Amino acid sequence: MNQNGLPHFASGKVVKGFGRGSKELGIPTANFDEEVVNRLPESVETGVYFGWAQVDNGPVHKMVMSIGWNPFYKNTKKSMETHVLHEFQEDFYGATLKVFIVGRIRPEMNFSSVDELIAMIKNDIAVAEEELEKIELQAYRNSPQFSSDG
Ligand code: ADP
Ligand code: MG
Repeated sequence: MNQNGLPHFASGKVVKGFGRGSKELGIPTANFDEEVVNRLPESVETGVYFGWAQVDNGPVHKMVMSIGWNPFYKNTKKSMETHVLHEFQEDFYGATLKVFIVGRIRPEMNFSSVDELIAMIKNDIAVAEEELEKIELQAYRNSPQFSSDG
């Protein structure tokens, strides 16, 4: 599951997304501002990834991330959307989100129904949950990049 450009650490502000209704599907995705996207190595293709995430100076959680094409830029620029595998009491727009992207799950896909999409995302989450239990991937959760002043 390794590929060029990974692992990749990213840190930046959570901004308003495209209003695609991720939250309505029960899968909110925290969108990174474009500066973060600009630092993403070109070798990191669109698709679904997994890794570790930290909101401000909180605990480090597992995450799945969709790297796709940004409709604001007529799909010429990428977008990075992180679903943190944790239930938050409140939204965290404006917070600093730090992520370590450590592996890739699958390419971008089209779905013929919302149910199919949700089933695939549930599968992505299960893959991430399991992969991140591996001792060598657990190590990233203690990375110095996640410290409170990183
Ligand atoms: P938007 O289109 O603005 O990105 P979403 O429906 O994707 O809207 O919701 C994303 C927002 O939900 C995040 O910016 C964050 O503030 C909030 N949120 C709450 N819980 C989570 C979570 N577990 N993972 C990601 N974002 C979450
Ligand atoms: Mg979103």
